[in-house]
Amino acid sequence: MEYYIDDFPRKHGCVCGSKSNMAFKDISTNYSGQSIMIKNVPIYKCDNGHIKLSRITRVKIRELLKYAWENDLTIVYYGEYKYKI
Ligand SMILES: [Zn+2]
Repeated sequence: MEYYIDDFPRKHGCVCGSKSNMAFKDISTNYSGQSIMIKNVPIYKCDNGHIKLSRITRVKIRELLKYAWENDLTIVYYGEYKYKI
């Protein structure tokens, strides 16, 4: 399966000094009273379990949440702007 990934590095330095590798995670959150899950969000995770989101990712998540909320979706896919229920 292929997902669109924003143009940012695959590796990242963590605050704890370890190297963070890109991974995908489902993020569940609440937006204006509606529970919304975003699937396959690219994150950085280091060996000590710290998780970091890039600035671009955080911006896109806000857009996705707004999109999901306006369209009454409970699940959105980060890479696709589509949904499945
Ligand atoms: Zn770390």
